[in-house]
Amino acid sequence: MSKGLGDLATLPVSRLKVTPKKLEGLTELGISSVLDLLLHYPRRHLDRTNQAAIGAAAVNEEVTVLARVRRVNSRRSRAGKFFLEADLFDGSGYLKLVFFNAVHYYRSLLAEGTEVAVFGRIEMSGGRRTMKHPVVDPVGDRTARIVPIYPQSEKQHLTTWDFGRWIDEALRRIDHLDDPVPGWVLDRFALVDRDTAMRSFHLPETMQEVNAARKRLVFDELLRIQLVLVRRKKELERTSKGIAHVLDGDLVGRFHRRLPFPLTRAQRDAIREIGDDMAKPVPMHRLLQGDVGSGKTLVAVSALLLAVQGGHQGALMAPTEVLAEQHYLGVRALLEGLTLADDNNLFGDRPVGVELLTNRTTAAERTRLMQSLADGDVDILIGTHALIQEKVAFRSLGVAVIDEQHRFGVEQRAALRGKGEGETVPDVLVMTATPIPRTAAMTVYGDLDVSVLDELPPGRTPVTTIWARGPLEEVEAWSRVRAEVEAGHQAYVVAPLIDESEKLEVRSAQETYDSLREGELAGLRLGLLHGRVPAKEKEVVMEAFRNGDIDVLVATTVIEVGVDVPNASVMVILDADRFGIAQLHQLRGRVGRGAAVSWCYLVGAGATPESEERLGALERSTDGFELAEVDLDLRGEGTIMGVHQKGRNDLRLASLRRDREWVARAREIAFELYDAGIPEHLVDELDLLLPEGDEEADAGAEFLFKS
Ligand code: ADP
Ligand code: MG
Repeated sequence: MSKGLGDLATLPVSRLKVTPKKLEGLTELGISSVLDLLLHYPRRHLDRTNQAAIGAAAVNEEVTVLARVRRVNSRRSRAGKFFLEADLFDGSGYLKLVFFNAVHYYRSLLAEGTEVAVFGRIEMSGGRRTMKHPVVDPVGDRTARIVPIYPQSEKQHLTTWDFGRWIDEALRRIDHLDDPVPGWVLDRFALVDRDTAMRSFHLPETMQEVNAARKRLVFDELLRIQLVLVRRKKELERTSKGIAHVLDGDLVGRFHRRLPFPLTRAQRDAIREIGDDMAKPVPMHRLLQGDVGSGKTLVAVSALLLAVQGGHQGALMAPTEVLAEQHYLGVRALLEGLTLADDNNLFGDRPVGVELLTNRTTAAERTRLMQSLADGDVDILIGTHALIQEKVAFRSLGVAVIDEQHRFGVEQRAALRGKGEGETVPDVLVMTATPIPRTAAMTVYGDLDVSVLDELPPGRTPVTTIWARGPLEEVEAWSRVRAEVEAGHQAYVVAPLIDESEKLEVRSAQETYDSLREGELAGLRLGLLHGRVPAKEKEVVMEAFRNGDIDVLVATTVIEVGVDVPNASVMVILDADRFGIAQLHQLRGRVGRGAAVSWCYLVGAGATPESEERLGALERSTDGFELAEVDLDLRGEGTIMGVHQKGRNDLRLASLRRDREWVARAREIAFELYDAGIPEHLVDELDLLLPEGDEEADAGAEFLFKS
């Protein structure tokens, strides 16, 4: 009889030939049903006919060798520690394996007379080919040409050989697996059916079969995620009532005409897309992506004013107090002198009311603010999470802009949506501070529409980035700072990143400041900024830097976002290898804001191959989207989909890097399936593998800012 995944989920693994001890191990791994077992995919497939021969393998190279275990010995070193030695033979030569740790475990993998695949570097030791601590995959007595290698568990003593046996048994005892995906979908992308895919991935005869199977299983994973996201998006649109904003006011137009520069084409497009959304009676749910300096703030303010001109209010939420304050100052400056028609006012108009609400707002001020908010005297409220506290009541919230979504949870988004007037739901615009690769955006923010600012305002000269690998280049960095200051420009120095504590970070900034003032930058006017500088003093320092009374600002990453001093033309980032790509790119965005040629020095030898890649990428490219792709390549999608994936994570095979094009295809199909009605069995699968309320599908993009 044909079966679906749901049926497999009801079959306990104990139906298979599993010993009680192994069953315990499986339970600990979270594998309790036959479905769990079948979704425990091989991590690679070994082609028996295509392995290195021991006798021919080059010394000092990493190879996979398939050989039979001849002899295994536990031995004791002179220091009295046990270690394990094994001799393998593959017909072409002998290989010695040595293990100093987990001796017991390796002994159990290396049963004499059985076949094993080992992966590692071959060295010559005592005149013999040797591998120390290779990866060992027991192949057992499987004779197939292609051997699937399963992730094994050292702790639970479960080997790839165990998994292979159980899965083989399970598939033999299942007649046929149903396919819930309609035939026309499979036809469009030439995908094999599910039964074929499962069988050929676990028990393949050729590598072509493996590849075809993988394609199908990857598609299934991505399709399920997209279906959940698309369904959520569509249901939200269907069930909630939004505000149909009127676009015919002139406030936004007047705002744009007062700017000292024309909008970029990308800004105009994004504002039009947002306007179209806001005019609809369905709540907007849009993501605004753009590189550092692409002018997202202007777009956000345009959205806020669009609501304001129709008599509604706007909210702008930032993830931190500092950012909220910076937004507040920035938005006020942008709106300076902009007026709004007001019949109650004798002059017939009044300034656009912008206010700030954070945890620092005093109780008295807060009370006053709440009153004006309820009266509608406040047009735009800027703040942190404090904005969505229960007690904050708007007269009519028309649009909420959320800056840097990654630090806001889904619930907070929901709470904000609950702030509309009566039944209506405010429009929501989410801004990310740094670009996210397209496939990641589709996966993490798949329930949003996306606008992209893919163009920088004209007149910017790209920042020249120099990775200062050694002392000579560091000397060059400081002399560049001096030369730029002499030419009337200004500079930033970013102090080493200290994760352990704010206290240490403050100390590192202070030490950097002291030593530069005495040494490399003696004679220049230096300022210091870090997390413990009191707000008042911070403002004084920033003001002095803005006015050009300070030449060099030494700071921690508090300058990461929002600081805008076009006269600054050089930045030196110390210990740059400790920062992540996104953060370095964001920091670098503080220079190159004017027309002057600008420099960014990344000081620090690459501590790891990965940090070398990071610094190299920054040196090569100033394109945030390109850097985001590199970041994804380096760090993998595991980090995107969230680390806290309990139980069934549905992204087992698919890779947002390798399978880029499949993400887009799955999304396309998800929309078509939703419109045609998602087949019932597929809905069951979504409930089974990606239950709603389980935050897996929208686990935050926090990874972008973790270094
Ligand atoms: P983002 O938030 O995307 O990093 P901002 O909104 O802070 O970028 O804008 C960066 C800088 O570019 C600001 O100084 C802003 O005034 C300026 N800017 C924005 N749009 C334009 C434009 N169309 N032409 C020239 N300068 C612009
Ligand atoms: Mg900004």
